[in-house]
Amino acid sequence: MIELFIFIFGLCIGSFLNVVILRIKDGKSLRGRSQCPACGQQLRWYHNIPIFSFLFLHGRCAFCKAKISWQYPLVELVSGFLWLIGYWHVIANPDFYQGEAISKMATGIASLALAMTLVPWLQVLTFGVFASFLLVLFVFDLRWYILPDEITLPAIAVALALNLILGKNWQALLLATALGAVWFGAQYLISRGKWVGDGDIRLGALIGVMMASWQGLLVVFFIAYILGSLVGVGLILARRRNMSSQLPFGTFLAVAAIIGLLWGQNLWDWYWGILW
Ligand SMILES: [Zn+2]
Repeated sequence: MIELFIFIFGLCIGSFLNVVILRIKDGKSLRGRSQCPACGQQLRWYHNIPIFSFLFLHGRCAFCKAKISWQYPLVELVSGFLWLIGYWHVIANPDFYQGEAISKMATGIASLALAMTLVPWLQVLTFGVFASFLLVLFVFDLRWYILPDEITLPAIAVALALNLILGKNWQALLLATALGAVWFGAQYLISRGKWVGDGDIRLGALIGVMMASWQGLLVVFFIAYILGSLVGVGLILARRRNMSSQLPFGTFLAVAAIIGLLWGQNLWDWYWGILW
């Protein structure tokens, strides 16, 4: 039952993320009723129900019948599942996620009982918020090859605050942030902006803040390069792209960061376990 509630909550967040994407893309304010991007008609509340509206409208605007982008139901569904996965993950790995965080928070608020209820939910919220930011950046980079500062900069601030509240080591956190920025900053300088865009520098810093350790950051980079190579080779084989066409690397980083947040530690242990 609680799973259903979290999933529906994730769907609603996804619906909100679609609005954020559309309005930042068009440079509009986040307030005001939503409109159809094609005809400008104000939508009614029942046109805005996640998934269901798309289904009963058969993917078309109720007024002008313009096709609604598949992005809307997809982002809603992915968001719903990400929140659900985050919940399952925290529940399934209490020691891994909550051990140190609980003792630190218990000292901070002087109540072990309160810390024990608060921390797991804060972990779920943190993963959900991180994944939401990454999902928005994924869509932006995939569709328009941009990583807007309106997303990356607030995301860095929010991720910093959440990780500090969760008692993450601030030196490790700052080191990872700097490493993430320097990694892409150096490539940007050497190639004069040909290999990576300046948005990647902010995304690198963001992933550093989210992972809060240089090991976690390296795992994410590693996954992103593997994903990038696999998809790149796949697209060439399918003759969708040629060698020279650019794939937006931010999309792979966003996916890799979500994988890294969930299983980064396991992958790190497994990798070194193979070597020794
Ligand atoms: Zn319309």
